[in-house]
Amino acid sequence: MRTNPSLSPYFENLHSSPEHIQLALESLFEKYQVQPVGDGYIDLIVDRARALELIAELTDLRVAVERLTWWCNVTPENQSKYGCPHGLGGPLNRSGAGCFSECHDYPDFAIREQPDPVDEHSRSAQAFAAKCNQLAYDYLKDVFQSAGFYSPCLYVGLWLHVPYEWPREDK
Ligand SMILES: [Zn+2]
Repeated sequence: MRTNPSLSPYFENLHSSPEHIQLALESLFEKYQVQPVGDGYIDLIVDRARALELIAELTDLRVAVERLTWWCNVTPENQSKYGCPHGLGGPLNRSGAGCFSECHDYPDFAIREQPDPVDEHSRSAQAFAAKCNQLAYDYLKDVFQSAGFYSPCLYVGLWLHVPYEWPREDK
């Protein structure tokens, strides 16, 4: 494969072994009961506790999280406890009760919008993924639960920073 000089070290790494990385991602999705909404690597719905473990494994794989969004798990129990739904219609929960509704009105956590931007071109693939994922991990672990919109019904939508042309088999 030719090397594109404008590619960051991070993307060069992804392009160097796409099949290997995609297979590893699929197996992580299975391990952590991730429910991708579409056929790409955005809106990967996963509960908060599993998301924390998954993010750590993504760092080992040198895959960076680029954004976190929020999905409400609508179940009869959550409806009576927390007043769900908190968003608009969505997919059935494949590994648990109820369905998910997408919380468009809640603020995303976007890595590139953080105060000290992470420069993809000046870092190694490992350092870039580690830095992005640390920001996502710290937010989920320490900040999310004190956000004004927080509710225990909320799941995370993980967005991975991978090439747009990477398809997934929509299962
Ligand atoms: Zn809810």
